[in-house]
Amino acid sequence: DTAAGPVDLVVLGGGSGGYAAALRAAELGLRVVLIEKDKLGGTCLHRGCIPTKALLHAAEVVDTVAASETFGIRATLDGIDMAGVGAYRDSVVDGLYKGLSGLVRARGIEVVTGTGRLVSPTAVTVGDRVVEARHVLLATGSAARTLPGLDLDHRTVIDSGDALALEHVPGSVVVLGGGAIGCEFASVWRSFGAEVTIVEALGHLVPAEDEASSKLLERAFRARGIALRLGVPLAGAKTTDQGVTVVLEDGSTVDAELLLVAVGRGPVSAGLGLDEVGVSTDRGHVLVDTHLRTNIPTVSALGDVRPGPQLAHVAFAEGILAAELLAGLDPVPVDYDNVPRVTYSHPEVASVGLTAAAARERHGEINTATYHLAGNGKARILRSAGAVTVVSAADGPVVGVHMVGDRVGELIAEAQLITNWEAYPADVAQLLHPHPTLSEALGEAHLALAGKPLHVH
Ligand code: FAD
Repeated sequence: DTAAGPVDLVVLGGGSGGYAAALRAAELGLRVVLIEKDKLGGTCLHRGCIPTKALLHAAEVVDTVAASETFGIRATLDGIDMAGVGAYRDSVVDGLYKGLSGLVRARGIEVVTGTGRLVSPTAVTVGDRVVEARHVLLATGSAARTLPGLDLDHRTVIDSGDALALEHVPGSVVVLGGGAIGCEFASVWRSFGAEVTIVEALGHLVPAEDEASSKLLERAFRARGIALRLGVPLAGAKTTDQGVTVVLEDGSTVDAELLLVAVGRGPVSAGLGLDEVGVSTDRGHVLVDTHLRTNIPTVSALGDVRPGPQLAHVAFAEGILAAELLAGLDPVPVDYDNVPRVTYSHPEVASVGLTAAAARERHGEINTATYHLAGNGKARILRSAGAVTVVSAADGPVVGVHMVGDRVGELIAEAQLITNWEAYPADVAQLLHPHPTLSEALGEAHLALAGKPLHVH
């Protein structure tokens, strides 16, 4: 601060990336000021990862009750008390929020509540105060985007934040966008009993995933009664007394109570003082190198505000990296080629590394093996369907792993170890996977790829 001299680091934004950087920097003995306009924890904790997964878990409970007879258990669903679901969701968020606030306090980080703005390469204003710092970290995150001509009214045409705050189960919903966020809400609402239609302009759900995973998810969603309109762009939407009429480019229409717009998120960088200080941006994204430095040597950026994957675990890793660089350590940059990705719908989709198509492009000849969960004892016990596909360069290391099935999000961390360490299929085939677990499916796929399939035809 001006009075006591500049601090080592001022962080703008207390979300996943900002607080991770602050925590690590403080741990390394740096003086840190963290400026947050809303609540520590940011999108992920309050409007993203955590509350959506609480809803998905509540949805799983509904599905379990609905399927209870399959297990010989007689249970009936008496209804869904959305206030109760909301209280459960909030209790999870509040518990984590208290823990995070305590952690930040314990590390001696000064938290300033307010909207920060860069005024020089080494100074940020917040309210009447000027915080001088050796280094500034931009961690202001992202906000939901919409399409041109499609206005969010936050009542009938809503974004994910509105969707999380809904106090009732809608009778019918159109979800615009078949990415992770769209699929997760579609999954929850379907379990809760809503009529759900997903509209996706590209030809597949989760279009960034391996095509085989997309197809498995599409089959599972259709079997659950979720209507899919794939490869048909939206032409427009009109709100009516009953809700909304969604018009597609092929002239067809879908009526629903709500339209959730889940077409991606854009950087929060307007009004931050970037142009005035000369920080380079591209369509609002703050441009950085692999050390997260902007074109201004004392200013770095991380998380959703820079171009690249918009994921909390990437922001955490970048926060640690930024702090260690500032402390003069020599950390390894983030491995963007091996970022685990999970869509937490029912069923889940998880992957790391290259899709088969991308691997073919990069490596020419490739090998793949697919293991279907139908052969996995634990998956049968859970009544989960899906598959694990492993992709390797011909006679080379594993370069991609793709999974569909309940709880596969818990398996992808091992797959990241495999791709990050450039393990060969035969190396992984040597490892023991406890029986009966879902993790065996990963072992089985590698056994097959190494030319010694066990429970595979
Ligand atoms: P944010 O978490 O957005 O934090 C930015 C913070 O900066 C906010 O708290 C904001 O208030 C503050 N801020 C902004 N401007 C200023 C300013 N001028 N001054 C002071 N403070 C400011 N990712 C996953 O990895 N797994 C998931 O399951 C997952 N699920 C998601 C579900 C949904 C519905 C959404 C919307 C996102 C989800 N994400 C998920 C993405 C994840 O939330 C983001 O990638 C992550 O939060 C990015 O962290 P960040 O630090 O860059 O930004």
